[in-house]
Amino acid sequence: MTGSSASVRLRFAPSPNGRLHLGHAYSALVNEMFAARLGGDLVLRIEDIDPVRSRPDLIAAIEDDLAWLGIGFSGSVRRQSEHLSTYRDAIDALRSRGHVYPCFCSRAAVVAAAGPEPPRDPDGAPLYPGTCRVLSHDERASRLAAGLPHGWRLDTAHALALVSGPHRFRCLDADGLETSHVADPARWGDVLIARRDVPTSYHLSVVIDDAAQGISHVVRGADLMASTDLHILLQALLGFDGPVYHHHALILGPDGTKLAKSRGSESLGDLRARGVTPAEIRRRLGFG
Ligand code: GLU
Repeated sequence: MTGSSASVRLRFAPSPNGRLHLGHAYSALVNEMFAARLGGDLVLRIEDIDPVRSRPDLIAAIEDDLAWLGIGFSGSVRRQSEHLSTYRDAIDALRSRGHVYPCFCSRAAVVAAAGPEPPRDPDGAPLYPGTCRVLSHDERASRLAAGLPHGWRLDTAHALALVSGPHRFRCLDADGLETSHVADPARWGDVLIARRDVPTSYHLSVVIDDAAQGISHVVRGADLMASTDLHILLQALLGFDGPVYHHHALILGPDGTKLAKSRGSESLGDLRARGVTPAEIRRRLGFG
């Protein structure tokens, strides 16, 4: 491991479902800057729980683009797909304490049951109307025994009753000054924390991995700020210390929206092919 303070560790955690673009480069560079400022390590995590969208060639391309950009990472790379049994164990632990319940609803069924103008979570999805929360013990058991496809939802009211708030967390602002915040996990409702196809979700894996990798500071985009409210509750339920957070501004495209490969944003690979240098990218993103 490099770095002068082993207790300070940051991570960059891309999902390998597309090539990295300037938004990713910016996030990696903000991580690099905070790691240097705090005298800590920076580790790489590949968030590849999605069995359909994650591709091995994209993982290789991500590592190659980051090396090209000159970002150094400590230790080995953690790939979430290699830790599914850890996530499964966490679901079992939450289940044994009554914090989660199986949900047999398809996405379409949730939308239909939520009605025409449902309350929505911070990502804009309808809050889960609770269809499977009220299933009887016997009904639940018989559906599980029949092998019906199901995910696992957090029983948020149950969880909040057990770990009562206020749920405080700390953030660093751009100048490195610490601010204190109170999370409001209830705005996510009974969120799905294990999907039908994999025994986890972004929210569960990220909380487990930040703890497993000893992450002291989570530096990520402002688009994930609302998720932090939920992560604070999951940390409390799983007995983890919460890291300090910094949510950085997003790099926007010419149309003012977040960069995305699906909207045709130029990838670092495209920029490299055009002869753009890593130094030019760093300068363009304010790290020159
Ligand atoms: N994997 C997420 C992404 O690529 C980042 C998650 C995080 O930093 O918490 O957007």
